[in-house]
Amino acid sequence: MPEPMPSPCRVCGGELGERLPVGIGRSAWHCDRCGWRLGDAPDADLRPPRVEVVYYLRYAARVKIGTSSTPRSRLAAIRHDELLAFEPGGRTLEQQRHREFASLREGGEWFTSAAPLTDHIAALQAVQRDPWAAYDRWLGDAFRRLSS
Ligand SMILES: [Zn+2]
Repeated sequence: MPEPMPSPCRVCGGELGERLPVGIGRSAWHCDRCGWRLGDAPDADLRPPRVEVVYYLRYAARVKIGTSSTPRSRLAAIRHDELLAFEPGGRTLEQQRHREFASLREGGEWFTSAAPLTDHIAALQAVQRDPWAAYDRWLGDAFRRLSS
């Protein structure tokens, strides 16, 4: 069970973690959100990784399908009721989804909230209860790939 860590994670700011073994008879806190080991931080020389996501934002009975590599600031600028899900991918995946759900398109990046779009979103939600926790995990994975 995740417990409060002695200090917040330096990668994602997460506060809960678990002590996991790191060699014989030793253990270290690992962030529950991004999986990064507490106290480790990405090398200052490394540029932060870009993790592009396709986002599904609900506003009333419509869903916006867009993409961003800075979803926190992007989503703050878009009026919406609820973030439904993230999907790892960039412009290519976004355009593929726009084509896939073209019959529901209302204009621009906005689509009617109905099947098959709602089925697709439900499938994403089944594996990510919290889209932001999923995003932080992808970010943590990208940091680890950069530093290894
Ligand atoms: Zn973390």
